[in-house]
Amino acid sequence: MTRSTTTSGEAGGTITAAVGPANLQGRIPVLEYHVIGGDKNTLYTRTVASYRSDLDSAYKLGYRPITMAQMLDKDFRDVPAGMAPVVVVFDDASDSQFRYLEQNGALIVDPTSALGIWEDFARTHPGWKPRAVFCMLNGGAAGHNFFGDNPKFNGQKKEWRFPKVKYLADQGHELCVHTLWHAKLSQYPDNVVQEQIARNAMGIDSVVPGYRIRTIALPYGLWPKNRPLAWQGSWTDPKTGKAHPYKFDAVLEVAGGPARGPYDPQFNPRSVNRIQAIGNDIVRTLTTLQQSNTRLVVGAK
Ligand SMILES: [Zn+2]
Repeated sequence: MTRSTTTSGEAGGTITAAVGPANLQGRIPVLEYHVIGGDKNTLYTRTVASYRSDLDSAYKLGYRPITMAQMLDKDFRDVPAGMAPVVVVFDDASDSQFRYLEQNGALIVDPTSALGIWEDFARTHPGWKPRAVFCMLNGGAAGHNFFGDNPKFNGQKKEWRFPKVKYLADQGHELCVHTLWHAKLSQYPDNVVQEQIARNAMGIDSVVPGYRIRTIALPYGLWPKNRPLAWQGSWTDPKTGKAHPYKFDAVLEVAGGPARGPYDPQFNPRSVNRIQAIGNDIVRTLTTLQQSNTRLVVGAK
């Protein structure tokens, strides 16, 4: 039996939130964002208004955010019974996602960056927890280096990079590998593939020592020729002779639609589909999953 709850909406109106019976076999939408900002939506850019509207639609449709790690672990403690998990992923670590502003000597999260909007949204939407996934570059060009390494990129400073990454981990967001500088892994020999991945993981580890990385997002969705190297490998630093092994549980594709959930017998964590933030694709997919009862819905704890 499906029931509905009503809550007061932002505009003071009444919203009917979808709440339904448990469906653990269902799908989980894994959303994929790149740059947040600009004045129009493009393949890799989503305006602040559209991004905020996506969050609002997801909330009203009864979705609550979880990390990929939680999805892998079937950890739905952050999703109330009758509601559905959604995974929100940000790729490429640009300042548009996490920008600091200096105000009276203190650093604040820029309220117009993706993280600032998320945090503002959470203040007015109970249950919207800090559970996004940030698939980061640590040596990318044009400021795509742990969210900006140069004042050219909206005043960001190199020394803010590590505090930003640590802040995300401390808040409960997930840190995810996206290679050193966004290499097309299909075009490189095995040793370069492993260097690209291992040095990104090393970068994360130098910010949060011992952090257990669970997830990698493939740049452009391109697989290495030797496919398993996407999730497991090792790179030996020629300067030190030290080996740097890595091993992840989930590999994110660049597209493909709603992902199979972890209770689905065909769930393959080494190939998790995503939904790109293009046009109206996200809201359309979230709505279809809800209306067709094909999404994963959490049961009573
Ligand atoms: Zn990317």
